[in-house]
Amino acid sequence: MQPILETRNLSKVFHRGSLLSRDRIVAVDRVSFTVRRGEVFTLAGESGCGKTTTARMILGFEHPSSGEIIYGSERERWHPRVWFNQRIQAVFQNPFETFNPLRKVEGYLFETVKHYGLAADRGKAVELINSKLEAVGLSYSEVEGRYPSEFSGGQLQRISIARSLLVDPSLLIADEPVSMVDASIRMSIVNLFRRLRDELDMGILYITHDLATAYYLGGQIAVMFRGNTMEIGPVQEVLVNPRHPYTQLLRESIPEADPKKKWRGRISIAETEEEEYLRTGCKFAGRCPKAMDICRQQAPELYDVGGVKVKCHLYADKQKEVS
Ligand code: SF4
Repeated sequence: MQPILETRNLSKVFHRGSLLSRDRIVAVDRVSFTVRRGEVFTLAGESGCGKTTTARMILGFEHPSSGEIIYGSERERWHPRVWFNQRIQAVFQNPFETFNPLRKVEGYLFETVKHYGLAADRGKAVELINSKLEAVGLSYSEVEGRYPSEFSGGQLQRISIARSLLVDPSLLIADEPVSMVDASIRMSIVNLFRRLRDELDMGILYITHDLATAYYLGGQIAVMFRGNTMEIGPVQEVLVNPRHPYTQLLRESIPEADPKKKWRGRISIAETEEEEYLRTGCKFAGRCPKAMDICRQQAPELYDVGGVKVKCHLYADKQKEVS
């Protein structure tokens, strides 16, 4: 499958504190992955793991400290806005924040058509808008003349997706797109992503803390922890047979289908995010049940463990990944 977006050793460093005592927080540490046409690539992890900062760099909202973002064959060291506008579109977590409550929803759709010069007249614009709304299970007549408060969160998220489809993007970045919609309609949005992937041959960069939906979408996954990709490979392999101790704990935290049952092995947040970011060696060493002395002294490399890349000293006998 054709690559549409690649990051190579993408890093983001934040500095905090005064000049005399400055902490250097590596929010994203040499992250490399490829998103392909017709495939979902998931960035997964708890909040504060660096997944949203990674997306913000791809979207041009943050300046990378180092590394590369490559779109197709174009190499963009910085300011991807030039190309991402039409080829990459984004859908965010809270659909209610996307739309001004005092403004009719259709205004956003017409505005996008006008901004990109997508239709010669209003009739053609309505036709185009209707076709994209139909692609997400709605229609123009259902949207016309209505304000955001007249829609459910799920409907607004669909309208937001329809708006991004107006420019026929090849990549959709979806940052926690179902975390604020009702559980009852969550799967219908996830199914919509599957359809966009298959019918429009789109690449989807799916950012989530929810491994169950990541598993359902398939494709590739990178599990992130404190700025590092701990494990990266095919979703089926990573989630069914996790190699990294952090992925193993995360997977055990997936709730049972029966909501009355307790969560198994929920990860304890024993340490602050900050302590973990500043930790020498493996960032997961404070919580890892398999931690060894070397883990507290030296950061692990990425190793190839049966086709899955794993950042863990437990696999030091395997072949090292060359970045
Ligand atoms: Fe655990 Fe060590 Fe592997 Fe980190 S490197 S995940 S602390 S075993």
